[in-house]
Amino acid sequence: MRRVLILGGTAEARALAAELTGRGVHVVSSLAGRVSNPRLPVGEVREGGFGGPDGLAAWLAAERIDALVDATHPFAARMTASAAEASARTGVPLLVLRRPGWREGPGDAWQRVPSLHAAAARLTKAASRQSGGPVRVFLTTGRRSLPVFTGLAGVWLLARSVDPPEPPVPDNVHVLLDRGPYTVEGERALIGEHRLDVLATKDSGGPMTTAKLVAARELGLAVIMVDRPPLPADVRLVETAVEAAAWAQG
Ligand code: NAP
Repeated sequence: MRRVLILGGTAEARALAAELTGRGVHVVSSLAGRVSNPRLPVGEVREGGFGGPDGLAAWLAAERIDALVDATHPFAARMTASAAEASARTGVPLLVLRRPGWREGPGDAWQRVPSLHAAAARLTKAASRQSGGPVRVFLTTGRRSLPVFTGLAGVWLLARSVDPPEPPVPDNVHVLLDRGPYTVEGERALIGEHRLDVLATKDSGGPMTTAKLVAARELGLAVIMVDRPPLPADVRLVETAVEAAAWAQG
């Protein structure tokens, strides 16, 4: 039976696991093991890091894996680099499955920035121009990015994440624990309730978390969008689970 390793942690990875299992392929899905109560795919699941490219290469050989699909989140750059390196070393073919990034629509004027630190610099600039209270920011860049933003003068944060950030959480941060999908009505209410001025987010793409972008457009919030990290050179890339399943099936 053909054996495929899916590097997961995304809705696309779960869709691919279901699609391949339905096609009679033996799938092992791999999760980083960071989220306390992850949504699980169908089929076999393993959790935790491999120990870098060396560890992944050894694992691929030991488990006799025929094909590797990196369906991790677009910002999981270390895992993606590790997959490319392990594939090159072992000869196990690699496909990257990435949902498309978000595109601005009519009425949007996003400020695209290359990194979290560049997003923080934009917020500092906005705070220096604002009088009569802090800039109130809806921050959805992930709990581990919070330290990049917490020390900014004149900035108040509503930080939404799936799991709680590492304590201590400073006074200018209100943490909201939640997991998508979100609705436009819900996002509108949140923006109104917390009198938010700016949405700072990253270009995750996908339908589960687009509602905030629609609500931000409707309510006139400034949007700071962190661009995706680049993919390793020469990787094969598809955007849907069905395309990835056709490739992985062999
Ligand atoms: P990362 O920075 O690229 O990965 C750091 C390390 O975690 C990797 O080097 C690897 O450890 C381990 N790892 C990551 N993904 C793994 C997987 N699927 N299976 C086994 N080990 C994995 O990744 P991250 O940004 O921390 O994301 C971790 C996981 O959360 C990913 O699976 C991703 O799909 C999911 N996720 C991330 C985001 C995000 O915003 N970054 C959002 C939603 C979901 P070793 O080097 O020891 O192998």
